[in-house]
Amino acid sequence: MDTNNNNNNKSSSSGKNRRNKKSNTTTTTTATTTTTTTTNNNNIKSFSQLSLDEKKEFLLSHSKNIFKPTFINKKEDDYELDKILKESSIETFTCQICMNCTDNQLQCKNGHLACKQCWDEIILQKAYTQKVCPFCKVPVSLDTVDRNLFYKTILEKEEVQCPYYLNGYQNNTDNVSCGSFKYSFLIDKHKNECQYRLVKCECGQDVKIKEIDKHQEQVCLKTMFQCKHCSQKFIRQDQEKHFNTCPNMIVACQYCDMVFQRHEKQHHIINYCPETNVYCSFSSIGCKEVIKRKLLNNHFVTKDHSTLLKSVVVQMDHLKKSNQQLLVQNHDLQSNLSKYANEIQLLQKEKSQLEIEYMNLFGQIEILEYEKSKGRAYISQFTSNTTANNNNNNNNNNNNNNGKDKGAPSPDSCIIM
Ligand SMILES: [Zn+2]
Ligand SMILES: [Zn+2]
Ligand SMILES: [Zn+2]
Ligand SMILES: [Zn+2]
Ligand SMILES: [Zn+2]
Ligand SMILES: [Zn+2]
Ligand SMILES: [Zn+2]
Repeated sequence: MDTNNNNNNKSSSSGKNRRNKKSNTTTTTTATTTTTTTTNNNNIKSFSQLSLDEKKEFLLSHSKNIFKPTFINKKEDDYELDKILKESSIETFTCQICMNCTDNQLQCKNGHLACKQCWDEIILQKAYTQKVCPFCKVPVSLDTVDRNLFYKTILEKEEVQCPYYLNGYQNNTDNVSCGSFKYSFLIDKHKNECQYRLVKCECGQDVKIKEIDKHQEQVCLKTMFQCKHCSQKFIRQDQEKHFNTCPNMIVACQYCDMVFQRHEKQHHIINYCPETNVYCSFSSIGCKEVIKRKLLNNHFVTKDHSTLLKSVVVQMDHLKKSNQQLLVQNHDLQSNLSKYANEIQLLQKEKSQLEIEYMNLFGQIEILEYEKSKGRAYISQFTSNTTANNNNNNNNNNNNNNGKDKGAPSPDSCIIM
């Protein structure tokens, strides 16, 4: 209920303001355009060279407000009843026990009034052993103290001053503020609609509802903007910082006053700026002068580079000659190279022939090896047969000689192959 009222109130108020705002914005834009044109005609300044007012104007014309910060945490309504009642009515609504002015008083069976807090204290606190009405001593309990309809009705009809009345005069030049109403109207309606009620903006500042739109549009540090040059979003508090670094911002060269987007600045200074100091174009052949780019043509006229050029011509002649010599040497080396390549080819052919011959010889060696082992086998066969025959003969001889030649080697052990 409260929030709804709040929203309704906000939308209706901003609706009203929007009409004013529109006309304001139009005038601002026209003003800015005029300024920019005049600035263009005069000498162009970079952003950092602008005065504070010029900067503000420039920033506003180069960014657009994309959304307002979500409106506002409602502040507690902590007004006191005796501050808004007429002096003469205060006593009527004052609790006779605690002397607080209050909108809620309950009565005992006999109609004695006291505020809710006081009855609670008498009934609930242990310190009070007697739970009785302090005026007529009738016993009281939470069930027997009752609301007093008459009290409520006369309070509702009571004329009160808007609790935000004083806010109306804060920083207010037109000297107008809120008026007085019946208490019921204040509670049911006006409290939530009062243009002088303070609300807390997202930036932390307390602002009158009446001024919240203006505040957010013109000063609030949390208002969101979008840069028209690079589309980046930022809050007002970062606005100037952004414009000091925005890559697409139009800035002027600090040396020659030409204008371009900030990201082109380095390129301009290195390659085009007439005020940049550069080396003479003949630096590679010995002119050591460093001059502003715009004076380069003049330098070519005033400084005589012909001696330098002559020495370069001499060097070039010299180089031409040695180049020719090198060409000849290169030709010789090329022909040697092809000669060696042919020789290598021949050697490779010979190598492969030799490899074939080697294979053939190897085959023959194997055959011979085979023959050799066959021959050996034959010889050993032959030798063992011969030994057997000799033994037979020896036995016959031993019988005759009585073992005279016992230690002599056998003929077989003397054969060496
Ligand atoms: Zn009281
Ligand atoms: Zn009583
Ligand atoms: Zn008011
Ligand atoms: Zn704010
Ligand atoms: Zn930008
Ligand atoms: Zn420049
Ligand atoms: Zn030079």
